[in-house]
Parts: sequence; structure tokens; C-alpha cells
Amino acid sequence: MTVEFRGLRRVFGRTVALDGLDLTVEQGELMALLGPSGCGKTTALRCVAGFERPDAGAVFVGGEDVTRVPANRRDAGMVFQSYSLFPNLNARDNVAFGLRVRKVPTARRHARAAELLELVGLPDHAERYPHELSGGQQQRVALARALAPEPRVLLLDEPLSALDAKVRVTLREEIRRLQLALGITTVFVTHDQEEALSVADRVAVLRGGRLEQCGSPAEIYDRPATPFVAEFVGTMNHLPGRLGGDRVTVLDRALPVDGPLPGSPDVDVLVRPEAVLVTPDAGGTATIVASSFRGASARLRVRLGELEVLSDVPGHDAARLAPGTRVTVSLVERPVLVAARTAPAAPAAPAGSAGPAPEDPASAG
Ligand code: ATP
Repeated sequence: MTVEFRGLRRVFGRTVALDGLDLTVEQGELMALLGPSGCGKTTALRCVAGFERPDAGAVFVGGEDVTRVPANRRDAGMVFQSYSLFPNLNARDNVAFGLRVRKVPTARRHARAAELLELVGLPDHAERYPHELSGGQQQRVALARALAPEPRVLLLDEPLSALDAKVRVTLREEIRRLQLALGITTVFVTHDQEEALSVADRVAVLRGGRLEQCGSPAEIYDRPATPFVAEFVGTMNHLPGRLGGDRVTVLDRALPVDGPLPGSPDVDVLVRPEAVLVTPDAGGTATIVASSFRGASARLRVRLGELEVLSDVPGHDAARLAPGTRVTVSLVERPVLVAARTAPAAPAAPAGSAGPAPEDPASAG
């Protein structure tokens, strides 16, 4: 089943939640809708579920225009952020609920519920009530409930955001495994870029109710189409550069430019922290001012004249790159995005255009 959003528009009072969203989710694909709070992700999903009626545009499921089809005839399974199980029903009856509504006989309902509970790894929890289940287990039951009636599409609205970090990772892998095994077309709403990149076949980045970019996780991360996508997905340094032909000169290197060119030759060059190489050098012109260790990697804040640059290095290099170390900084040779200069490059200011992206280490040491 494909899911298509065609020119979808939804306005609430003065708020334009969807502003002409065009997007196609292919058969069997897991599409993540990613974007900042308020960009219209949930509204888009609710338009597929039938809980929201667009003001203009249409939703097609399997090639059929379902825009005016009531929610209970859309054949969509939905999982919400949390607290969506019926508290007075045990896990089995929660899972079987949609089947009871469809008047499936009791024995078949129970057999199907048992099958689904097995599928989500809770075969022994059929008798438990929601308050007797952990948050992760409740979401497994919610997933089983959504899948029990064999829906044509699966709609997930931030299904993991109420769970703690470890459970979130395990459960997202489970969801992906099930989704692949069942081959069910799935739309997964999240504001968490790591989650989107790790589970989805493709990621649709939304901004202001419109599609900013849609592509594979690698495309979105490595070849962001716009500075907005680049900033939203991962961390970016903004380094002052100067355009010349199809290259931009930044930190004494001329790198090829990817994406749109701003009008002025003086630009911000967007560089990922992992594309900034740092080498200990007693005669170097740069100094490490802060380091935050993250296990597999460490994020360094490096002062280079009036600039501050973030660099990600392997965790085992953190010890020889402690704050105070003199270093040289170089950039990996790969195409870069450039954006119109947002502020003068100097002098260095804490929140200046040449400064580090928001996620920098708090302080030295
Ligand atoms: P979040 O990640 O915060 O849930 P979102 O990207 O899912 O955000 P939506 O929930 O789709 O965004 O909301 C888009 C915009 O529409 C927001 O500004 C929101 O306040 C507004 N909005 C959504 N539903 C309603 C409603 N029923 N009444 C009024 N405004 C609404």
C-alpha cells in the first residue's frame, strides 16, 4: 500500500499546520516524518488516520482517495506516544479490541491476540493490566493492538518518546524488525533525528508544514539539500569562507561546493564536526579549549584565532587531545554546503556565526 500526501493543507485559526505537503510513501517502506516541534508531523499523520480533515489537498492510500473516508474505515493501525491502552482491559483484550469491534468470534480473537503478543515478545503477559506493565511493554502491547486487525498501513506517532534511552533503542529495533517482516507500509513521526536516521528507509524532513527534503538517511545526513536540513540533522560548524567559482575557500582549503549558492561571495561554510581533523602540534595555531568524552567518540571545542570549531575524534584519542593542547586543524576534502553569512565572522562571540553549533561541550575539562 502506498500512502500519498498531495498538496495537503490544514489551518487552525491563524496557524498553518500543513502548507501544501507533497510526499509519497512507497509500498512496504518505513518513512520517518522528522522536524521541529510544530512543523506539522502529527497533523500529517492524523490526516492519514482520518482524525483530521485537510482544508485542501488529498490523502491517497493504495491509490485510493481516502480524504473523506471516516477513520474507522481507513484500515490504519496507529500507535500513540503513550497512555493509549485501555486501563481496564488486560493485554490480551487490549490487543483483541479492534477484532471485537469487527465482531470476530472470541476464540479467533484470543488466538490472534496470543499470536501478536508472541510477535512483540510478550507471550506471558496476556493477563497483565497496563499498570502491571513497564512503559516499553505497554508500547509493545499498543503495537500488537495496532497490528492485530492486519491494517493496510501502520502509523506511529512518537511511539518511543516517553521511554528511557535504552528501551527506546531496543524497541525501535524491534519495530523495524517487525515492520520488515510484515512488509507493512509505515509512517513514523519523530522529532529525534537519530531515531529517524536509524529506523527509516527514507526520512522526510518537514519545516513549516512543507517538505524540506526527502531521502535515505545517508542522503539526509551527508547531502542535506538545504542549510535547514543540515542544521536539524546532526551538528554543524559555521566557518567563514569565500566563494570562487565552484569552490569555497575555508581554513586555507578550497573545497567543492554542494547545493545552492548564495548571492554574496562571503558565506558560512557548514562543516560537520567529524570532518574537522585535529592533530597535536606544539607549533600549531589552534588550542583545544574543551573536550566532552562520549565513549566511542569525543567532541572537542577548538579555538583557532577568533574562531571556535567543534571536532569529533575517536574516544581513544581524547586523552592526547586534552584541553590546553596545541593543535593544527584541517578539513576533510569533501563537498560542503554554504549559506548566506548570518553575522560577521569576527570577533568570536559565544553565539556568533563562527561559533560552534548548539550542542557544544559545556566547559573545559
Ligand atoms: P510536535 O512535535 O510538537 O508534536 P508537530 O510537528 O507534530 O509538533 P503538529 O502537532 O502537527 O506539529 O502541529 C502543527 C501546528 O498546528 C502547531 O503549531 C500546533 O500548535 C497546531 N495545531 C495542531 N493541532 C491543532 C488543533 N487541534 N488546534 C489548534 N492548533 C493546532
